[in-house]
Amino acid sequence: MQCPQCQHENSEAAKFCEECGTKLIRACPSCGQEVSPRAKFCPACGTSLTRQLPASQTLDSSLQTLDSVDPKLCLWLTSRQTK
Ligand SMILES: [Zn+2]
Ligand SMILES: [Zn+2]
Repeated sequence: MQCPQCQHENSEAAKFCEECGTKLIRACPSCGQEVSPRAKFCPACGTSLTRQLPASQTLDSSLQTLDSVDPKLCLWLTSRQTK
């Protein structure tokens, strides 16, 4: 498992980097499942892990934001594809 901080290659079982001590295991913000630092989605619940949301921002509020943006984006993409 590669350290996201210093790129040191650690053993797969390592929970902390042997080189710099960075924690290599992340917890899913949604279900608490331990995931690798390079995982893009939680293997347990499918939550996207590519964006680190601030602790104050809940998943619900980000979904509401997406809701208000998505319809316009979809229309825009559709109109581009038909041209
Ligand atoms: Zn490291
Ligand atoms: Zn999860």
